[in-house]
Amino acid sequence: MKNQYIADTDTNLVHTYNRFPVVLERGEGVYLYDEKGKKYLDFAAGIAVSSLGYGNREFNDALKEQIDSLIHSSNLYYNTTCGKAAKALGRITEMDRVFFTNSGTEAIEGALKASRKYAYKKQTGRCEFIAMKDSFHGRSMGALSVTEHEAYRAPFEPLIPGVSFAEFNNLESVRALVTDKTCAVILEPLQGEGGINRADEAFMQGIRKLCDEEGILMICDEIQCGMGRTGTMFAWQGYGTKPDIIAMAKAIGGGVPVGAFAMTEEVARYSLEPGDHGTTYGGNPFVCAAVAKTVEIFEREKLTEHVKEMGRYLTAQLEALKETCDMILEVRGTGLIQGIRLKKPVGETVQAAIKEGLLVISARSDVIRLVPPLVIEKEHIDEMIEKLKKVL
Ligand SMILES: *Cc1c(COP(=O)(O)O)cnc(C)c1O
Repeated sequence: MKNQYIADTDTNLVHTYNRFPVVLERGEGVYLYDEKGKKYLDFAAGIAVSSLGYGNREFNDALKEQIDSLIHSSNLYYNTTCGKAAKALGRITEMDRVFFTNSGTEAIEGALKASRKYAYKKQTGRCEFIAMKDSFHGRSMGALSVTEHEAYRAPFEPLIPGVSFAEFNNLESVRALVTDKTCAVILEPLQGEGGINRADEAFMQGIRKLCDEEGILMICDEIQCGMGRTGTMFAWQGYGTKPDIIAMAKAIGGGVPVGAFAMTEEVARYSLEPGDHGTTYGGNPFVCAAVAKTVEIFEREKLTEHVKEMGRYLTAQLEALKETCDMILEVRGTGLIQGIRLKKPVGETVQAAIKEGLLVISARSDVIRLVPPLVIEKEHIDEMIEKLKKVL
């Protein structure tokens, strides 16, 4: 049954989503409420965005203060919050140079352009990319070109030429695609959309070594798995290796639309220069206040430690659930990004969970994706397990 709000929404938006029949109104902590006051335990976090949960007083006050002081200025000038946010991201990413974007997709575009420019300036003639099967990097023409999903690509081809796809966690398949035209290898250290697939250590380290030997850049898409979600600030930091360029977004602004790509000084020295790339909104004072405050809270509250602890507890509870439920084939992931692979498509289960007051999302057709706010406690995990038990 459609209520008035859903009907209104349907009338004026392009039909690019099959939305769930829920009209959300407000959030508090790790719960969301619809317009009738029904309460939902949130294990989706707006797709891994709202890591601090909802109604964080300190975060909200910082935004309000920034609105009253300056919302936008333009990248033609410096502003007082941008430097603060860039410094904070530089510190937690261990990268030297940061470019702010408005979304994850744009961060990927920037990362691809930065690596092309690096090859151009070094006159290596390298212009092609190796990406992974089951990858997801966004929906613009460039980001889609390195996204493997056939259904996403087909209506929009031809895309950027010179992209090939290797098997995730199969180093030899990456090596087999390398040519003297390969400019960069791009991968998610933990594939989110593609079904919660974690890169193993040998794969990440092997790619780094391969890239070094061949003069290729390594790009990590940390948009979903980054910013504390795996238990390290960025997922690559759990592998004893370091990429040349990273893309981030989702959680870095605590819900305010902002992304960024960042690179080492070595890449920056031979990469984007004035005139090569730009954005009107990107890194404006408002979004930078959000980034700076998010990072400040993450560091002060030691959220990565909390994620490690909650991740261990979540894994244990999910493994126990699997023992009692033969619908579950596999539990996988790490920290607070986990997947439950079922014997059947998960659509109905996700719908049933929503009826039970639990928001979860899918990853591909057969995996339930759990990406809760990072501030959840054990009691919320217990509550989620109880609800999931009922619907499974
Ligand atoms: C969400 C996502 C993107 C795209 O980010 P947008 O902000 O939606 O443009 C790219 N890569 C990964 C891994 C993502 O999860």
